[in-house]
Amino acid sequence: MVNSFRAFLVNDLFGDPALYVGLPWARRALLFDLGDISALSAGRLLKISDVFVSHTHIDHFVGFDYLLRVLLGRPKVLRLYGPPGFSDHVEGKLRGYAWNLVDGYSLSIEVHEVQGDQVRRVCFSCPEGFRRRHVADSVAVEGLLVDEPEFRVRCVTLDHRIPCLAFSLEEPVHLNVDKVRLEALGLPVGPWLMDVKRAIRAGEPDDVLIRVAWSTGDRRYERSVPLGLLRQGVVRASPGQKLVYVTDAVGSEENRERILALARDADLFFCEAGYPERDADRARARYHLTTVQAGRLAAEAGSRRFAVFHLSPKYRDCGGDLVAEAMAAFAEAKGSPSRAAGASQRSPSIGHSPRA
Ligand SMILES: [Zn+2]
Ligand SMILES: [Zn+2]
Repeated sequence: MVNSFRAFLVNDLFGDPALYVGLPWARRALLFDLGDISALSAGRLLKISDVFVSHTHIDHFVGFDYLLRVLLGRPKVLRLYGPPGFSDHVEGKLRGYAWNLVDGYSLSIEVHEVQGDQVRRVCFSCPEGFRRRHVADSVAVEGLLVDEPEFRVRCVTLDHRIPCLAFSLEEPVHLNVDKVRLEALGLPVGPWLMDVKRAIRAGEPDDVLIRVAWSTGDRRYERSVPLGLLRQGVVRASPGQKLVYVTDAVGSEENRERILALARDADLFFCEAGYPERDADRARARYHLTTVQAGRLAAEAGSRRFAVFHLSPKYRDCGGDLVAEAMAAFAEAKGSPSRAAGASQRSPSIGHSPRA
């Protein structure tokens, strides 16, 4: 099955947390946490529409200025989601600069501050000098922050001695194109299939006509195909994919229950593992998870794949051992040691982006 979400960690296992998730069908991207993102190209940064910030410890939020710098001249609305007090932290960053010579810039930053099931929406717009403007309050039923036809984002609040958000990214339904059937209808592969998927997700009726245009050599072709024909014969629906991002949480029973409620049946579970099991006391004192806690959580949630990140730099000389410990715990808790190798990181570098 083709991955709907193109996810990779921006930095290495010891670097600042930032998970980039490309949504190729929408030429758009999401970012989970906003640590150092200087390794991302301007092209990738410009695609970011929504940023989900777990909490504002500096290693999770220091990239805000960098992103602002790249997006500043763009006519764009950037949505940020974060825990209680988040709008004050964003405002504090914005107040750190002078905004008297930005005529013609129209960037707006929409902050969604999550407190329990309440979400406060505040806007900071460049034409308004980035002054705070309260927009609305709403309720996030079952932690639902974003509900679009192609994906949903939910959150739960974890204890990290301060509130820290964990997120799930879910695809309501996964749509696959049967290329053999497509060819049998004499239709080409192409970007028009994105429109088909969009129409199916939006529940449009069967008699909606989809325009297909293509060329072969000098000849141009065009056809209008009823959506129903494609829905029944070409596009196969299956359960949607699910990605989970959990970081900076103490290994308590309350956190475990909240994480499991969020992460049930994840296809890919990114989980911090700050410390090895031998330093469990230190992990607890710093309100972080251990490798074994992370591996067991991923297995208990029924995750198909598991990736650890955010190891303490203290263990830089034995990162591979920490990853192995987490993966062994995952495999053991799943009851199938052989699955670990194929379904997980084999080395600290897997799952990370080339610098671009
Ligand atoms: Zn933290
Ligand atoms: Zn952290």
